Amino acid sequence: MFSRSEDLFEQAVALLVGGVNSPVRAFKGVGGTPVFMASGHGSHITDEDGNSYIDYVLSWGPLILGHAHPAVVEAAIAAVREGSSFGAPTAREVEMARAVQSFYPSLEKMRFTSSGTEAVMGAIRAARGFTGRSKVLKFEGCYHGHADYLLVKAGSGAATLGAPDSAGVPASFAAETIVVPYNDVKAVEHAFAEHGRELAAVIVEPVAGNMGLVLPEPGFLDALRNLATHFDSVLIFDEVLVGFRIQGGAQGWYQIKPDLTCLGKVIGGGFPVGCYGGRREIMNCVAPEGPVYQAGTLSGNPVAMAAGLATLEELGRPGVIEALDSRTETLVKGMKAAAKAEGVALAAVSIGCVFGFFFRAGAPRSWDEVKVSDAVRFKRFYHAMLKRGVYLAPSAFESGFLSTAHSFEDIDKTVAAFRESLRESGG
Ligand SMILES: *Cc1c(COP(=O)(O)O)cnc(C)c1O
Repeated sequence: MFSRSEDLFEQAVALLVGGVNSPVRAFKGVGGTPVFMASGHGSHITDEDGNSYIDYVLSWGPLILGHAHPAVVEAAIAAVREGSSFGAPTAREVEMARAVQSFYPSLEKMRFTSSGTEAVMGAIRAARGFTGRSKVLKFEGCYHGHADYLLVKAGSGAATLGAPDSAGVPASFAAETIVVPYNDVKAVEHAFAEHGRELAAVIVEPVAGNMGLVLPEPGFLDALRNLATHFDSVLIFDEVLVGFRIQGGAQGWYQIKPDLTCLGKVIGGGFPVGCYGGRREIMNCVAPEGPVYQAGTLSGNPVAMAAGLATLEELGRPGVIEALDSRTETLVKGMKAAAKAEGVALAAVSIGCVFGFFFRAGAPRSWDEVKVSDAVRFKRFYHAMLKRGVYLAPSAFESGFLSTAHSFEDIDKTVAAFRESLRESGG
C-alpha cells in the first residue's frame, strides 16, 4: 500500500537529513514511514502509491482554499509569466498590504518576508530596537519559528531563565528569554514584577496552535495587554498559524489590540510569505526608515503576492468564512459524539477553522496538561485514520485545519473513520 513511499524514503534518508526538509514530516511522532505526496486537488491529496486522503494538514495550515484552487493557480501562473522576481518594488505588494490591512487594521505599517520565522525575528528585533531592551517573555508550548532565542520552553517555577531547547543555541542567547506557562496570569505578573523594565517584548500565540489547539482563558490576553502597556513592553501576537482562520484574527475575536502582529501560512496561498507589522512608531524603526536592519532577496515576491492576494480575495467573499467555521464545528461535534459512543476520554476543541483533539478528559489549558494526553494511543489511532484515507498531522501535538473545499460529505466520512479508528486503537 505504501511501497513507493517506502522506496522514496529510503533514497531520501541517504541524501536529506532524516529524509525530510522539516523535522515533523518524518513521522517520528507516530512511527512508520512518511507518505510521499504526489498531488492535491481541493480537500484531497494523493500519494505516490495512488492512495487518496482527505487532507486536514493543508501544508500545515496555508491552504485555506484547499489544494490547487483555480483562482490561486491562475494568479500564480500569470505572475510567473510576467517575471518571477525583480528585487524592486511592485504594485502587487501595495495591493497585498492593503488586503492584509483590511483583515487586520492594527497593521498600520508592515513588512513582508519569506517565512513566519523571519516575520517573528523581524518583529522581535523591531521591538528591541524600539524599546532599547533585550529580554523577551514567551510561553511554554508556543512555537514562534526556529530563531535561536525562541527555541526555549523549559522553565520551572513562576519565571525562570530559559535553557535552550535545541543544541547549537548559546546559553547566553537563551538567557534573554523568559518562559512562563500558557494561561497562567500569576506567573506572567511575577515575571513582569521581576523583569518588567528589561522586557522588550511579550510574544504569544493568542490562540496556541502548536501544542495541539489550546485556547486562551478569559482574562489571559487582557492581562498581557495591561502588563505590556504598564511596563512599556511591546505586545506581539504571533498569528502565523491562526491568522485568517479566525474571524477578525485572534485579535478581533478577543478584542485585544497587540502592538505588533506576525502573519504567515495563509497569506502566501501556499507560497513562502510571512509578514510583520503594527503600530506605526514601532515599524518606523525598521530600515530604511530606522536603524533596525531586516531584509530579504525574495521578500514580497510577485508570485507569492499574487497567490496570497487571490487567496484573501476568495476569503473576503460574503459567507465564505462563516461556512468554513460551521463545517469545522460539525466535524468537532462528530468527533465528540464518536468518542462518547465508544466510551473514549477525548477532548476536542475548535475555533474558526482550526481544530484539535487530545486523548484526555477535558480541554488542556497549558503544555503541562497537553503533555499528559495519551500519545501512545494517538500513534495507533493515527495509522488507523491513515489506512481509512484521512491525513492528519503526524504528531499528537499539532492542530488540524479545514479548507473551503472540505464538504459535509468529507466530514461525514471523516467522522465515520474517526469512530472506527477510536475502536481500533483502544485497549
Ligand atoms: C509555523 C509558525 C511559525 C513559523 O513559520 P515558518 O513559515 O514555518 O517559518 C511561527 N509562528 C507560528 C505560530 C507558527 O505556527
